[in-house]
Amino acid sequence: MMPKRKSPIWHPFTQHALQGEMTKVVRGEGAYLYTADGHRIIDAISSWWVVTHGHCHPHIVSAIQKQAETLNQIIFAGHTHEPAEEVAALLLQLAPRGLDYVFFSDSGSTSVEVALKMALGYWRNIGEPRTRLIVMQHSYHGDTIGTMSVGARGVFNAAYEPLLFDVTSVPFPASGREQATLDALEAACRNGNAAAFIVEPLILGAGGMLMYPAWVLKEMRRICEASGVLLIADEVMTGWGRTGTLFACEQADVSADIVCYSKGLTGGSLPLAVTLCRADIFRAHYSNDRARTFFHSSSYTANPVACAAAKANFDLWQRQDVRERMAFVAAMQEQQIERFRADSRFENVRRTGTITALDLKGSDAGYLADIGPKLQAFFRDRNLLLRPLGNTIYVMPPYCVTATDLAEIYACISDAADALA
Ligand SMILES: *Cc1c(COP(=O)(O)O)cnc(C)c1O
Repeated sequence: MMPKRKSPIWHPFTQHALQGEMTKVVRGEGAYLYTADGHRIIDAISSWWVVTHGHCHPHIVSAIQKQAETLNQIIFAGHTHEPAEEVAALLLQLAPRGLDYVFFSDSGSTSVEVALKMALGYWRNIGEPRTRLIVMQHSYHGDTIGTMSVGARGVFNAAYEPLLFDVTSVPFPASGREQATLDALEAACRNGNAAAFIVEPLILGAGGMLMYPAWVLKEMRRICEASGVLLIADEVMTGWGRTGTLFACEQADVSADIVCYSKGLTGGSLPLAVTLCRADIFRAHYSNDRARTFFHSSSYTANPVACAAAKANFDLWQRQDVRERMAFVAAMQEQQIERFRADSRFENVRRTGTITALDLKGSDAGYLADIGPKLQAFFRDRNLLLRPLGNTIYVMPPYCVTATDLAEIYACISDAADALA
């Protein structure tokens, strides 16, 4: 029986048969969301990992307002505009060295699709028949058919399995088993058909906030380079300070051949994404032959208002106090998570930069574990936005979060373990 719902909206990643009333939010400010029924919620997951400096940051809001009154959309083939030019130039200054070109799109998934197409187009255009993609176990790169193909297979994409293309997967570099990953990558790269290796640097997000050290990333970079396999860094989640540096790749002192940014690119205010690449990838598409064009576009490619928001976000990152704020959040996060390391109710207590995660013991693991929605409901009742991945609870706050907010978040996590485990 399907009861009549009040709203015709089909929500993302939502099982409507089990979902209670949707939380109606009327306003966001800083780390807080205000609901229609008068509650203030702490946004401890940055509204799905996008909001970096806080909701409705005044500098970003005013940049959006100004741009919206001047030029709010323009076809980007055959045309350009100042906000996009500024964003591209500044991005190449901010990003690790070695990247030379910027392709705009409008979501993380699309930026990954673009990255895959760039890599495959590169090999085709230089006349080497390499088409095999190498991926890491437990990865997540988006929900389109191409990005599901390079992501972990499971309940999320079982229905579409017949359409997903075949890839080579290397194991996640779990602590103590890093060499197995490197060996598997080396073997996969030796296959003459290997085109590119796509990876989330330092943290696998949707796969369960699985963390691995920078030296592994550095080694993976070296292995790819030795066999000419392109390295694609999916920094859609890790970018914009999450890992304690502006970009995760900085910690391994590596530059990938292709890099994807989205989520925090506009400070989490508007949808925008970019795919950066090395000059030779662009050059492989540069020709008098129109058949070699990079055939990709989104209607809203480099939307000027979204670009203005990104530019305002870059302004903030040029400020010393903003960088210090990120480092301070990382330190406060460590302070809070520390006491859970010896807490027998939890395991795998971990942190990379501003992100912490811990697994609740005594319950099934995995995304579909019943404990996930129960925890989420518990937190919701306490006016806290947390959205555990199965039994993995993680905290990824905007950088304006206060020590008091964090203390409240972790007290609530502790209470949840007592109430539900
Ligand atoms: C969220 C995410 C994506 C997809 O981004 P969307 O904007 O949701 O399409 C891709 N890769 C990673 C690592 C992500 O965390």
